[in-house]
Amino acid sequence: MFEKVLIANRGEIALRVQRACRELGIKTVAVHSEADREAKYVKLADESVCIGPAPSSQSYLNVPAVISAAEVTDAQAIHPGYGFLSENADFAERVEQSGFVFIGPRAETIRLMGDKVSAKDAMKKAGVPCVPGSDGALPDDPAEIIRIARDIGYPVIIKAAGGGGGRGMRVVHTEAALIASVNMTKGEAQAAFGNPVVYMEKFLEQPRHIEIQVLSDQHGNAVYLGERDCSMQRRHQKVLEEAPAPGLNARLRDKVGARCADACRRINYRGAGTFEFLFENGEFYFIEMNTRVQVEHPVTEMITGIDIVQQQILIAAGEKLAFRQKDIELRGHAIECRINAEDPYTFVPSPGRITTFHMPGGPGIRVDTHAYQNYLVPPHYDSMIGKLIAYGDTREQAIARMRIALSEMVIEGIKTNVDLHRDLMVDAAFHQGSTSIHYLEHKLGISSK
Ligand code: ADP
Repeated sequence: MFEKVLIANRGEIALRVQRACRELGIKTVAVHSEADREAKYVKLADESVCIGPAPSSQSYLNVPAVISAAEVTDAQAIHPGYGFLSENADFAERVEQSGFVFIGPRAETIRLMGDKVSAKDAMKKAGVPCVPGSDGALPDDPAEIIRIARDIGYPVIIKAAGGGGGRGMRVVHTEAALIASVNMTKGEAQAAFGNPVVYMEKFLEQPRHIEIQVLSDQHGNAVYLGERDCSMQRRHQKVLEEAPAPGLNARLRDKVGARCADACRRINYRGAGTFEFLFENGEFYFIEMNTRVQVEHPVTEMITGIDIVQQQILIAAGEKLAFRQKDIELRGHAIECRINAEDPYTFVPSPGRITTFHMPGGPGIRVDTHAYQNYLVPPHYDSMIGKLIAYGDTREQAIARMRIALSEMVIEGIKTNVDLHRDLMVDAAFHQGSTSIHYLEHKLGISSK
């Protein structure tokens, strides 16, 4: 096992990874920007290294600075968390070339999955159900493009192969708008991702977002840990997640889960990963794979009792999974509310000093946050300041516990989206479950762009 791990991230996930390491008896190195010098997890780490000024381009995304920090502290492995360098294949490669273990998949796997055209192709071959669409990249010939769209049927969505974070997509409703839309998306994709390749998919009108968590070791063992429903979104950003997905048929879960685990074995996947699907009319359609730990991993941990971050570390260290598929049991229900420093209804970020901070507790309540009373939320990074997770034997109990926890939570000095979550906990459609990815924006009277 590693003796020392460097955590190349910040915020709640830096603290989460640190806790996992400490429980495994591993020493930790925190790297931080000048803006995060006072952070709690920096003080709690065994060692810390300042890797640059506040802007992430000069600190958390600064590959040479992160690698030198690992060198000077004698760390053996690097955990990238989520965001920042976590899905950067060049970084993973540099880490391993410099003699450290990257706690995540091999660079070539990240590269394969980072290109949505190659990812979809690999998944199709592995028998994972995909959204009907163009066979790979769209050709240049307009007549060909028109023919492909007719075959698929309108509306269609044009997506950038290199896209991410909800960007580089355009929905097309009529043939008249098709070619101009393809060209615009290509131009944007080139500008934003340095890659003009686009592909086409059937645009699903009222899907849910359901994703499957997997773990795959370096000895050919792979398991799925059930699914999460992350349909409550605004501007393609998840707001609330739950596991299991309300109303999902267990046989269907096992069928698609088994396909995902198979795909992992086929591509020699290493570590934790998530297969993201759109789900409509009882069918799963693969859209992309995330090759890292996700923000919403705790809901899966709550219903399986498996510590996903520890598993990432154990797998990276070369250990075999200590359980098989038949040992994994889904028990109860868990919900996660992302707590963001932002206006609850306009989503404008609200950084600043937290003057009052009271966190809830009680049976089934988990709070993952790096924030505390008097903490200054820096303006430079993502607005998420923590996650509130509620577990119950049933979905009803999880909702009741979440409702109570939200009523106990007090964060003052900055705006947060806690009120939005309070509204959701008494929302009739949420109570019923299985709302589509558009529900929240409809409820709030905004349209996604
Ligand atoms: P990104 O990597 O940018 O997150 P995804 O492929 O995961 O891109 O898609 C992001 C979101 O865009 C999805 O969660 C869904 O809301 C929407 N979307 C993507 N593909 C489709 C599709 N074929 N039909 C309907 N909505 C889609």
